[in-house]
Amino acid sequence: MRPAKNKQPNMDSLRQLIRQPSHVVIVTHKNPDGDALGSTLALAAVLNKLLHNVKVVLPNDFPPVFNFLPGIEKVIIGEMNPEEAVAAFEQADLIFCLDFNSLDRIDRFGLDVMASRAIKVLIDHHIDPEPFADFSISKTEASSTAELIYDFLLDMGLDKYVDIPVAEAIYTGILMDTGSFRYGTNPRVFEISAELKRLGMDDYMLQIRLFNSMTEKQLKLLGYCLANRMELMSEHQAGIIWLDKEDYKKWSIGRGDTEGIVNYILMVRNMKLAVFITEQQNVTKLSFRSKGNINVQEICHNYFNGGGHRNASGGQIKASIEDTLAKVKEIIPLTMNAYQLQHEQ
Ligand code: 5GP
Ligand code: MN
Repeated sequence: MRPAKNKQPNMDSLRQLIRQPSHVVIVTHKNPDGDALGSTLALAAVLNKLLHNVKVVLPNDFPPVFNFLPGIEKVIIGEMNPEEAVAAFEQADLIFCLDFNSLDRIDRFGLDVMASRAIKVLIDHHIDPEPFADFSISKTEASSTAELIYDFLLDMGLDKYVDIPVAEAIYTGILMDTGSFRYGTNPRVFEISAELKRLGMDDYMLQIRLFNSMTEKQLKLLGYCLANRMELMSEHQAGIIWLDKEDYKKWSIGRGDTEGIVNYILMVRNMKLAVFITEQQNVTKLSFRSKGNINVQEICHNYFNGGGHRNASGGQIKASIEDTLAKVKEIIPLTMNAYQLQHEQ
């Protein structure tokens, strides 16, 4: 039975559905981060135990730092194996869409989700979800999709399947989306973390794997960015770090090598807006971070065909690094002048 779209669905029917073994696809957004991967692999591990035929589809590859997550060796990478990914969507009875709110976030596979006869379940914490799902669990107040997955498993009566590998996948999502409990937190995320620790999850090992596992090249690239590619616009409490195509070649930058660099700008006293710009092969990508009430989701939505959260968003533009920098430098004063900026000293 398919519930009416956009109505508050009856979770009982999903509880029944999830107990009947079927073909399940779990898909998450392109350039998957720790929350996308942790929430997806946690759910996949539990559904495997219920004897579903589970396929995880990632639109493109993941950063190697997440190699340890349970079941990651079995994921289908759509960019590399498009036929296998399309076949998975065609066979699916149930599709879970995790950690994204619009079908363009999964590139061409958005069409496969749309065309599929499967029941679709969205579990996500981004603003303004598209109404494509039959069941939608969309909570912007959640720290992470991983937090929502834990509560979803509880709600479905599947908590007994949360073992240590599942707990570690969920905790990875929480840690990565809260910057180790520095932002986006709420009481629930601490309660869940306590439950996971009680189960025996090794949080210390996860901290080391996720945050003390940089390669020498990554650390040097960070140093290069801070020394040579950082421009602060102090009067607007904003800063930019950028890398061009030449930098990509010179440093042979790969997936995950630039993760987290944007955050360093906000470590500077009084900085409220951080922009990290990378000129890639066919597109220039932007990552925005902010403190407090500065809304970067609006900036990404209005100017860069993107979105995300109030304090962490991303987008892209078909323009050179020079033109993108010029545009960002125009947008920063426009945006920041709209806020009552307060210097802390
Ligand atoms: P990041 O800057 O780490 O790539 O992404 C920060 C946040 O913005 C994440 O929640 C991510 O889902 C979202 N985001 C990043 N890039 C895009 C994009 O191109 N489009 C949309 N809609 N969201 C994005
Ligand atoms: Mn997330």
